[in-house]
Formats: sequence, C-alpha cells, structure tokens
Amino acid sequence: MSVRVRYAPSPTGLQHIGGVRTALFNYFFARSSGGTFILRIEDTDRERYDPRALQDIFDTFDWLGIQWDEGPRVGGPYGPYFQSERTALYREHAEKLVQAGQGYYCFCTPERLEKLREEQTKQKEPIGYDRRCRSLTQEEAERRKRGGEPYVVRLKIPLEGTTTFHDRLIGTVVHANKDINPDPVLLKSDGFPTYHLANVVDDHHMRITHILRAQEWIPSCPLHVLIYQAFGWEPPEYCHLPMVMGSDGHKLSKRHGSTSLIEFRNAGYVPEAIINYISLLGWSYDDSRQLFTKEDLEKLFTLDKLNKAPAVFDYKKLEWFNGVYIRERDKGKLKKELIPFLQRDGILSNPITEEEDRKLTACIPLIQERLKFLTDASQWVRFLFKDLPPYPAEALIPKKGSKEEARKSLEALLTTIDQWFEKDPQKSEEFLRTLSESLQIKLGNLLMPLRVAVTGSSVSPPLMESIQILGREETMKRIQRALQLLSE
Ligand code: GLU
Repeated sequence: MSVRVRYAPSPTGLQHIGGVRTALFNYFFARSSGGTFILRIEDTDRERYDPRALQDIFDTFDWLGIQWDEGPRVGGPYGPYFQSERTALYREHAEKLVQAGQGYYCFCTPERLEKLREEQTKQKEPIGYDRRCRSLTQEEAERRKRGGEPYVVRLKIPLEGTTTFHDRLIGTVVHANKDINPDPVLLKSDGFPTYHLANVVDDHHMRITHILRAQEWIPSCPLHVLIYQAFGWEPPEYCHLPMVMGSDGHKLSKRHGSTSLIEFRNAGYVPEAIINYISLLGWSYDDSRQLFTKEDLEKLFTLDKLNKAPAVFDYKKLEWFNGVYIRERDKGKLKKELIPFLQRDGILSNPITEEEDRKLTACIPLIQERLKFLTDASQWVRFLFKDLPPYPAEALIPKKGSKEEARKSLEALLTTIDQWFEKDPQKSEEFLRTLSESLQIKLGNLLMPLRVAVTGSSVSPPLMESIQILGREETMKRIQRALQLLSE
C-alpha cells in the first residue's frame, strides 16, 4: 500500500516552528517513500477561523517551496480539502453511528450541562457528561428530534474494557475506557462536526496510511481509535513527533523568541536554512552530517531515524545555518532576495532603477561573505545608495593619528584621485602604498579617513571596490565634505 500522509492545520493562527516541522516530516516521508502528501484545512471551528491564517499557510509553504500533491489549489481525488466544505459527510457519518447503536442523540441543554458542571465542581467529582441521554429509547429520541428539539450526537464510549493504540515512536499505549471523557460530542447542535469526528472521517476517506503529528494529540488518540472502531475501520499508523523545547526545557513558545515562520522570514532567514534546521528537530541522518538540502531530505528522510527524545530549538544554530546558505548562494538569486529588504529599509526605490540595479549587482560579491541574514545587507550598502548621515569630525581621525595627519591624507588623496581611482583595485593599492611612504603616513592611517569619508563608518565592505561602485564624482564630494568637517 503506498504511503499517504497529510498535514492538517487549523487556520486559527500563524504557522509556527512546530507546525512546519510536522508538515516537513510528512512531506519528506511522502517523497522518500514514493507516497502522496496531502494538505487538508481543518476549518470547522468557525469561531476561531482567521482568513489571514489560511493565507499564511499558503504563503509559508510557497516560500519554503513545499508543494502538496493533493489539497487546496491543486485538488485531488478525495476532495474537497477544506473541512468546511465536507460537513454533509460528517453529518451523514454521525447519523450512521446513531443507527448502528454506537452513538446517540443528546438533548441536554447548555444550561443543564452548566448546572451539572457546577454540581460536579461542588462535589469535587470529575467533570464530564453524566450520560443521561444515552438511556433514551430510540423511539423517544427520534420523536424529540422530529419535534425540532436541538440535539448533539455523542459517541458511546464503552463502559468497560480498554482501548489500545500503537505509536511508532512511543510504543503501545493502553487506556481504561472508564477514564476516557464520557461520551464526547461528535456533531454539534449547529450540524458542524467537532474536531475529532471530522479528523477521523477525513483520514479514513482520504486513505491516510500514517499520522505524523505533534505529541499534544496523544491524549486524543484513544478517542480517535474508538471512533475508528465504532465505524468498523482500521486506524492508520500513528507516529507522534518528539516535542520541540526551548533552551530551558519548556515547550518552545514566544517566551523563547520568534516562533512563527513569518517572523523568521522578515528577520532575513532563507528557506534552505529553515528547512535544514527544522528537519533536524527530532530527526538525524547519522551522528555527524548536518547539511541537507530539500532535495537530499526528499531522498533520505525515514521514520526509523526519528528520535524519541525531545528536540531543543537552538536559535544560534539556526543563525549558523542561515549564514552557510547565504554564503553559498547564487549571486543573482541573492540579489533578487535582497531587493525587498533594501526597499523596506528605504535604500532602494520601488521599482528599482537601472542605476540602483547596476550598483547592487556590483556590490553583491563585496557583501555576500558578511551576511548572516538578508536584513544585514542594508547596513553594509546604505552608503552606496544614500547620502551619508552626519558624523563627527573625530570619526575621521585614526586612533594613533592626528587631525592634521587626517587632513593631509585626505588632501593628498583628493589631488591624486586620478592616479588611484583605477578599475583594478590592486593597482590602486600599489599607488596608495607609495603615496603613504612619500607622505610618511602609515597606510592604515592614510586609508582610515578615506574609509570614513566615503562610507561613513570605519567598518565597510572592501574600500577600493566600494569606491568604484560609488563613482569618481561622489567620492570626491565625500572627501571634500570630510575636509570641510576637519577644518571647522
Ligand atoms: N487540525 C489539527 C491541528 O491543527 C490537526 C491534528 C492532526 O494532525 O490530527 O493540529
């Protein structure tokens, strides 16, 4: 039987590390086993539904370059893939359970249930439904239903015995039925299913073979197995993924830092780094290999390399991966990715002008090695596109130099510009070396005022190359301005 797996997000919030990890593991498992990856949108909770969260699901996976084989936008043989469009199916199945004696109509009003809860709280009894409607005769239930009384459908949890499920990672788990929440609602009075019914019905109808999902769903598992049994269906294979923790051993959350993908995206992370690092949260290929492209994982990912132990999310490690992938990036691709960030920071026009485009192409090789994040580019290249912000005259004076020496350096550089403003930076450097000797100013002390005059900072991309990009006129203007500052 070929593998069919799904990612089944509820569009109630932004996609976060944990959800994306679940999606990636399902996707890679499908790819490496020649199976099918399905995206199903679990949007039956209309109160918590948020259209921005739905858009975020699409944006996140488009950005990561993860494509589903069946689901929204692409369709497939078992659609629709939005649960809100499948409610007739759930109603029909709830009805089937009642007819088969596995479920029952419950007419208890919200007020009665509230009273019951209060009473149970007062008596310090476990909170739960008291199964009052379970004993209604079928005739009576049918009569009340026909009479228009609102009702829900509940599952008859067996009163005795145990329910067992097998989890690939955790092993066999046995639950006493008497400990399972008494007779949970499967169909609500508005005709919408609860999460449990819709989830099980869809996994069955979409022929899901394996369920890879977060461990927080383990407590729901016995109930899901009972729903499968009530229908006479075989449950899929379960594999609940190891938890993702922050460095303090608590479940990863906002307290530890960014968790939603959009935050990482806006902070200048590249998709390759995110895919690589997230895939190592609870999975490893061997003891040493760390770098995996999406294509590698599509071949190499297997469930038997999943770890049982919780994974710790290390922000520093992700940063490291990001630097690695930025450094080895194709220059044209990097340039394209940097443009929106540089526009966001007001450095490039939108749309980008021809002149800006030319300069940007030229400066990519100068900054690529220095970038840890796409957002880092602005600080390195701003001086090439924008006027320098004001800086104090002292910034032009080297640590072991004097104002007089800085002035002399800049004057000499200005008058000789035609001799060092070369296309070939090596030739410029040769000339400048000679100039420093004749002025008896150390090369470092000669160049430091120039760097600050031209870039506005004592740290910058390679100076001579930057000056080439900036152009002769602008360079001269900036030196003149620095001289002016020194004479004030
Ligand atoms: N809609 C559930 C969620 O948001 C899916 C759980 C499952 O994978 O069964 O996590």
